[in-house]
Amino acid sequence: MTDIRKDLQDVIADIRAHVEFQRALGVKTLELPAGAACPAAARPAYTRAPAAASVRPAAPPPAPSSVIDPKRTEPIATKEPVSLDAVHEEIGDCTRCKLNKGRNAIVFGEGSSKADILFVGEGPGFEEDQQGRPFVGAAGQLLTDIIVKGMKLKREDVYICNIVKCRPPGNRNPEPDEVEACIGFVKKQIAVIKPKVIVTLGNVPTQNLLNTKQGITKMRGTWQEYDGIPVMPTFHPSYLLRSPGEKGKVWEDIKMVMGKIGLEIPKK
Ligand code: URA
Repeated sequence: MTDIRKDLQDVIADIRAHVEFQRALGVKTLELPAGAACPAAARPAYTRAPAAASVRPAAPPPAPSSVIDPKRTEPIATKEPVSLDAVHEEIGDCTRCKLNKGRNAIVFGEGSSKADILFVGEGPGFEEDQQGRPFVGAAGQLLTDIIVKGMKLKREDVYICNIVKCRPPGNRNPEPDEVEACIGFVKKQIAVIKPKVIVTLGNVPTQNLLNTKQGITKMRGTWQEYDGIPVMPTFHPSYLLRSPGEKGKVWEDIKMVMGKIGLEIPKK
């Protein structure tokens, strides 16, 4: 088979998987942007609710420097956190690890402090670093589709955050010292929110929250536990952008999450 023919078959398989996934999420109409040309490999844009407009703004910035030390280098305090604002304030203008050098913004997390479902990713990418909000780039759009179109929730009904709060350069995985410097904060966010279910997206949050070296391919779709809270590991949305054929597995995992908290699971 020629390379071009193989590429074309891959593109068709990707589009088919994407359309099937959207159909499983309940999306019935596809729309191309007005005036858009349709090159062979271009993905169609789907009708969707305006996500950004409904998103709660990121938690308020830390208190002014007259109240707290703006450069935070001390270890994460061990006392029980009382609120997300208190956790945010404790992070301050963090310099606890080397990621502070290249960051534009600390991406604390956003959503409901009373959320039943907490999604944990690995760390901010370019868009997230620009906007100071988690999952707002291409992978974020896919996560938003899962929440809004699939689970029939709003983004602000759930909580979304990451293992590290600053962007690793070039979107590499966070290194062990960076995770160590930051993971206490997601643990505090969990302690405040007390979600009914945690969904870990990909290897980094799964391995670090669950303290395991098992890979996500083995772990996904199996119930785990963190501090008494059920955890569902699933593939990271960025992986789904590269391997759209795997979206069905994520939808199976998400349906288990919905079942766990008594949400109605849409019939196909
Ligand atoms: N990937 C992540 O893991 N987190 C984000 O916030 C965005 C992309």
